[in-house]
Amino acid sequence: MATKVEVLDFIRLFADKMTEHRQELTDLDQAIGDGDHGINMSRGMKAVIEKLPTFEEKGTDEILKSVGMTLVSTVGGASGPLYGTAFMKAGMVVKGKDELSEQDIINMFQEAIVGIQSRGKAVKGEKTMLDSIMPALDQIKASIEAGDSIEDAIVKGEQAAWDGVEFTKTIIATKGRASYLGERSIGHQDPGATSMAYLFQAAKEIAKK
Ligand code: ADP
Ligand code: MG
Repeated sequence: MATKVEVLDFIRLFADKMTEHRQELTDLDQAIGDGDHGINMSRGMKAVIEKLPTFEEKGTDEILKSVGMTLVSTVGGASGPLYGTAFMKAGMVVKGKDELSEQDIINMFQEAIVGIQSRGKAVKGEKTMLDSIMPALDQIKASIEAGDSIEDAIVKGEQAAWDGVEFTKTIIATKGRASYLGERSIGHQDPGATSMAYLFQAAKEIAKK
């Protein structure tokens, strides 16, 4: 189970992590992109935190929708619309709910993936944020099916997200700016997969509290 308060805490913690890891994400993007991923994510989440007082009294669905809309409108790079759509879609599956069940949490991540894919037209294995969110959700689903608590499932999901980040080092980018590098993108870690793994890290830290 997760409450609206936990969702708000998660948003604040993810924003903190984007500020904390801003340089690291930017350095990763410097190697295979245009060096702005950390700047984009920290700027977008800073705007979310500034606007939070205007929507934190609303329901969880409205909160997630507002986070998404803020990201879309404040981040210029590819990641703004992609993360923005993910948050908006996640909000849509929990309409009217302030207490989120295990299934709601799974549905939110599932819809976030649907949103990222409908916007970015990428699949798993193209060296994008999908390479951490997709294995993370698969792991969460498998853990729940095996009888784990949602907290333990999220712990394992975060590990799967980081394994996905490692995997991005071994593959060629075929979507986004990094795809311009072709073969030369091999050996480099994808910045968007990395920020997504920090999202699961934030979710884990909130779930484990
Ligand atoms: P930009 O590429 O416009 O500079 P960012 O640097 O903020 O935007 O984000 C780059 C990240 O976005 C990449 O590391 C990758 O994970 C993700 N990304 C790029 N294109 C796509 C896509 N089509 N689908 C999913 N993720 C993508
Ligand atoms: Mg970039």
